[in-house]
Amino acid sequence: MRINVKALVTGGAGFIGSHLCDLLLAQGRDVACIDNFSTGSDDNIRHLSSNARFKLLRHDVILPLQAEADEIFNLACPASPVHYQRIPVETTKACVYGAINMLDLACASGARILQASTSEVYGDPEVHPQTEAYWGHVNPIGTRSCYDEGKRCAEALFFDYWRRSKLPIKVMRIFNTYGPRMQPSDGRVVSNFIVQALRNDPITIYGDGSHTRSFCYVDDLVDAMARMMATPDDFVGPINIGNPMEVTILELAELVLGLVGGKSKIEFKALPQDDPRQRQPDISLARSTLDWSPRVTLEDGLGETVRHFRRLIN
Ligand code: NAD
Ligand code: UDP
Repeated sequence: MRINVKALVTGGAGFIGSHLCDLLLAQGRDVACIDNFSTGSDDNIRHLSSNARFKLLRHDVILPLQAEADEIFNLACPASPVHYQRIPVETTKACVYGAINMLDLACASGARILQASTSEVYGDPEVHPQTEAYWGHVNPIGTRSCYDEGKRCAEALFFDYWRRSKLPIKVMRIFNTYGPRMQPSDGRVVSNFIVQALRNDPITIYGDGSHTRSFCYVDDLVDAMARMMATPDDFVGPINIGNPMEVTILELAELVLGLVGGKSKIEFKALPQDDPRQRQPDISLARSTLDWSPRVTLEDGLGETVRHFRRLIN
């Protein structure tokens, strides 16, 4: 057994990254968090500041980095459509230059490297549910392309480095994930609906509410990330990680309203360009190779997330 594993988490001050730092520390690793704080927050990692095994480095992954690492978890990238559409060129750079810089670092330090890819590589999918074998249906020139194509290019880079030098890569396609430490201004649907309900503001549904997503609680996701990193070198993915429980956006709004109570009414707004109509992961591969499946129900996970936002907002 190796001890004092040095894990480097890019995007570690973000929503998912901060939960991953917590888990890796709890599992006995030394953890370095690399973040430029473009969408992350000090609040997410403040509780770790006195931990001698935790280090924070303010750094933009579009620039090369020299560090010692045994494991690299590459999460640095804006993830909410509201954020990445505000800084599209920086988003593509974070995906592509970030991947190259972290892959070079992995080569230099002999580290294993996990890429936080996304279900967005499937675009607006014509295959449902989505398996890892599906190549996707992505608009290359739309307002979501900076993120979708950036993440697709990052996957290509990971597999080229692997083919070229047998670098131990792990590519994980993450489906919609939610939980405590999402920012109130994040703009994604779960945080928007909860914040709106807590403020008695209208619940903004884009389109008619029939679009679907499958929401995974963050604790389940980071558990899968640690399991994936521990797989043998010849298991590289890609692997879908998400909760296959699919709901319409209208059902999600009703669930949130039921949990929060309050006086909010539902308001229907225009659907954004290229918004995928449906999304549900096929997680057969994760079940068989990681012995993983989600444990937290949507009701329980939303309950925890509502408690987080109540503390922030009230
Ligand atoms: P987030 O916005 O909360 O976290 C992203 C973090 O990366 C932030 O702390 C941000 O400051 C940092 N960052 C952004 N650009 C950077 C750069 N150039 N250099 C250094 N740091 C940078 O988002 P999240 O939901 O925690 O997502 C984390 C990762 O997981 C992302 O790569 C995202 O694409 C992926 N992912 C998330 C979801 C989801 O539903 N949350 C789904 C699929 C994939
Ligand atoms: N959405 C919505 N109201 C909001 C925010 C999002 O109806 O206030 C919809 C959005 O159009 C999409 C779904 O919820 O159909 C998920 O959006 P999100 O931005 O959370 O994630 P993504 O589209 O990247 O899956």
